[in-house]
Amino acid sequence: MTDIIKADLLINNKSVPASSKETFDLFSPYTGKLVATVAEASVDDVDSAVAAAEAAFPAWSALSPSARGKPLKKLAEKIIAAKDELAELDAISMGRPVGGYFDADYAGVHFNYFAEAAYAQGHSSLNTPGFLNLSLRQPFGVVGVIIPWNAPLVFFSKKIAPAVAAGNCVVLKSSEKAPLTSWKVAQWIEECGFPPGVINVLSGHGQISGAAIASHMKIRAISFTGSSRTGRAIQKASADSNLKKVVFELGGKGPALIFEDADLDEAVKGTEFSIMFNSGQTCMANSRIYVQESIRDKFTEAFTRAASSRKLGDPTQKDINHGPQADKVQYETVLKYIEIGKKSGGKVLVAGEQADATLGKPLLISPVLFMEQPEDSQIMKEEIFGPVVVINTFKTEEEVIAKANDTEFGLYAALYTNDLQRALRVSKKLESGMVGVNCASPTGSWDLPFGGWKSSGTGRESLLESIEHFTEQKSIFIKVSGIGG
Ligand code: NAD
Repeated sequence: MTDIIKADLLINNKSVPASSKETFDLFSPYTGKLVATVAEASVDDVDSAVAAAEAAFPAWSALSPSARGKPLKKLAEKIIAAKDELAELDAISMGRPVGGYFDADYAGVHFNYFAEAAYAQGHSSLNTPGFLNLSLRQPFGVVGVIIPWNAPLVFFSKKIAPAVAAGNCVVLKSSEKAPLTSWKVAQWIEECGFPPGVINVLSGHGQISGAAIASHMKIRAISFTGSSRTGRAIQKASADSNLKKVVFELGGKGPALIFEDADLDEAVKGTEFSIMFNSGQTCMANSRIYVQESIRDKFTEAFTRAASSRKLGDPTQKDINHGPQADKVQYETVLKYIEIGKKSGGKVLVAGEQADATLGKPLLISPVLFMEQPEDSQIMKEEIFGPVVVINTFKTEEEVIAKANDTEFGLYAALYTNDLQRALRVSKKLESGMVGVNCASPTGSWDLPFGGWKSSGTGRESLLESIEHFTEQKSIFIKVSGIGG
């Protein structure tokens, strides 16, 4: 792709510039070149998108789930057919290597599934004498969706598919760091058969359009994936406006516990991939590894070998498995944490050459491994979102559980052991929304709840649960004469 992309908004099935005519520039984190000028949605644009969604809602929600499913299926087909193009768009905007791109297939599963499985269910009850009672599940109306940049199409699909399948109309804001796949998919919305206003796709920064969505009085529910810091801001905006329902998938600082009886090769393979995939820019990454003392040296040597063999470079090339950090801000944040880690003690095992932090150079950071950091140090407590991992040691099961849980986050924890009793005991004690046993993140499953404890989120997403996020419940009490008890 050599032309500079001009990415507009999709409001009411029309591709439009921002009402203010404002745009922002998007640069490739690898070449430093301008790849797109992107519409910066204004408060007025949020209002227009909400008005379009509100107008579309009565007719859209009156359709049967299978009628609503038809355009979802078509969108799944279009996305899967265009997977190479979509991979390239994320590669040039936020540096995600095309070689590991699974997002289009993931989106296809979500649009296909919810095209057929959006039969929201209430229940009935004869448990009150003299009454036949019913509960209904109904769509909210207009819902807001705000997504991050690290796997944009994953979040676009896992939120939009259940929201519209359940009968809602959506206003989505993409991330300013990776707006291009949302923009591209928006261009197919009308031809797939979605009526105007059902899906509106905005681009822009948090402080204008994101905040306007979070505080909008006509948006009744919001689904957000991003940092815990922004989650707090959205929670406040929601409380200060109309107390909209919020579902949050937030940050992480995942622990991996490696016991001395574990299959070492598997443990190294799983934990190295978990932290280094997407150059460490994954919410679920195991950024804290705890190894039992007796196997520390063996584990660390093998981990260092694996991390050192990552192939850094141009994310548009298929053989590259480690691209640049998403942008200059991310890059500088990670470098800052590496400096903090060097000062807080411990040893640095692998630290490749750092690229120059000037825009125009690849923003590559090679894997960095710290050993034996103090448990209360900043790099053990804060999410770094880069290819930086700490390997600390432990002696006993009790000790490692306490260390693993000593965090404000609780998204994904992994443990490796061949002792089934221990695996189950430790799984129960970990304060985490997800636990991998003899596997690490991003291992998961379509039908189990995805989400975090503590400051890692509220609510759970999955094929089986997401419809519930996007429906309100209503109880109807029907007095029936002669029905008895
Ligand atoms: P971010 O919180 O900076 O931004 C996420 C989105 O929120 C962007 O679209 C941004 O424009 C918007 N935003 C920013 N300020 C806002 C405000 N005041 N009001 C409304 N919207 C606002 O996060 P990011 O840097 O894009 O993504 C990385 C973070 O996301 C990490 O913390 C990571 O752990 C988390 N994440 C979590 C999951 C999960 O499923 N739990 C998945 C991916 C990423």
